[in-house]
Amino acid sequence: MARISSFVFLVVEMCCWWLINGNKVLLISMDGFRWDYINQVDTPNFDALAGKGTRAEYINGTFVTKTFPSHYTMATGLYEESHGIIANSMYDPLFDDYFNKRSKQTKWWDGGEPMWVTVRKQGLKSAVLFWPGNESEIRGMRPNIYSAYNHTMPFQTRVDTAIRWLSNDIDLAMLYFDEPDSTGHLFGPNSSQVRAKVKEMDDVLGYIVKQFDQANLWETVNVIVTSDHGMTEVDYATRHVDLSEHIDMNAIDKIPSTGPTANILPKANMDDAIIRNLTNVPHVQVYRKEDVPEHWHYRNHRRILPILVVADEGWVVLKGPEEYSEPDRGAHGYDNTLMSMKPIFYARGPNIKAGYETLPFNNVDIYPLICELLCIRQAPNNGTLANTENFIVNVDQETCAADTSGSSSALFSLPVVILCLLIKQELQVL
Ligand SMILES: [Zn+2]
Repeated sequence: MARISSFVFLVVEMCCWWLINGNKVLLISMDGFRWDYINQVDTPNFDALAGKGTRAEYINGTFVTKTFPSHYTMATGLYEESHGIIANSMYDPLFDDYFNKRSKQTKWWDGGEPMWVTVRKQGLKSAVLFWPGNESEIRGMRPNIYSAYNHTMPFQTRVDTAIRWLSNDIDLAMLYFDEPDSTGHLFGPNSSQVRAKVKEMDDVLGYIVKQFDQANLWETVNVIVTSDHGMTEVDYATRHVDLSEHIDMNAIDKIPSTGPTANILPKANMDDAIIRNLTNVPHVQVYRKEDVPEHWHYRNHRRILPILVVADEGWVVLKGPEEYSEPDRGAHGYDNTLMSMKPIFYARGPNIKAGYETLPFNNVDIYPLICELLCIRQAPNNGTLANTENFIVNVDQETCAADTSGSSSALFSLPVVILCLLIKQELQVL
């Protein structure tokens, strides 16, 4: 009798756990990992991950295809105009202040709710090893564990740290690798150096899988491997549009960054002259803020300045000859519909379909996907769970609120919790 009741107790406890809790998630970003890099060299570990999980040929990033904006979109499920990190370097007219990659004040980041905050708000635990925004207090919270960006931390150490977290009580872990982006910038996406780096990142993935095997984490942790953008060939010396050759630079008040795109704040009443002089310049498109193509979702934020210049693929917009000497052979930031800007996507775990290829989806969909895998309510976002549902398995959507209202899960889970506790109490009396 005792053996039967303890068995029933265990089953009930497991059922209750399953009803109330989702599994864990490890979200990995390999910066600048273009979707087709895996076709250029042997990547046995990526191939194996696809075999045991789900892969998309590529996913669609947001515009602009830059590191900080794209990572914050993944973290929040919001378009850049919605979360407000609209460039790696930007100017805010309200704050009369500049943002760069070292800016940590809450005022820059508070436009969105990153998943590490969503997780904490619902009683779960998050740990982040280097993700844009992870050092800032956002909506009153930080991840349970986080640290200042350390470029020199070996990739193996980063993996070991995440494995330790997930083996303990962390529910959401986020892990960032700055490659193959750095190598892509230095040598260009078609270089032998990038191919070698992609092989190295495949080895890193192999190490992650081995550690998961040893720590027995595959039963409880869903792993997602993705990226923020792709990379294309550039040559600053020969393929540039020099703004100073076309417009009076005194007409510009502020131009916080140059490269594949440039946001321009003109001096008073100079908008028309700047637009007129740039309109027929080859290799760039110039837009008034209100005319920016709708599908870029890049209009409705004050940090998007009144004029946007976007270079053709492989070209850069510069302020003057002092910028011609930039040695980078690779860049990103261009139109997110260009194939060269598309990132990778792989997933494997207890709630991910095995041996499956899904259609491309959008990186705003990653936030609702991860909320679903963790069985938590989403904060308002621009993503669509339906775009990834085709490869989610074994998640009870009744208990994991698929909607964003936040009420159904709470209403449903409370009686379930009480019922489970009562059943457990009854069994313990037996
Ligand atoms: Zn990047």
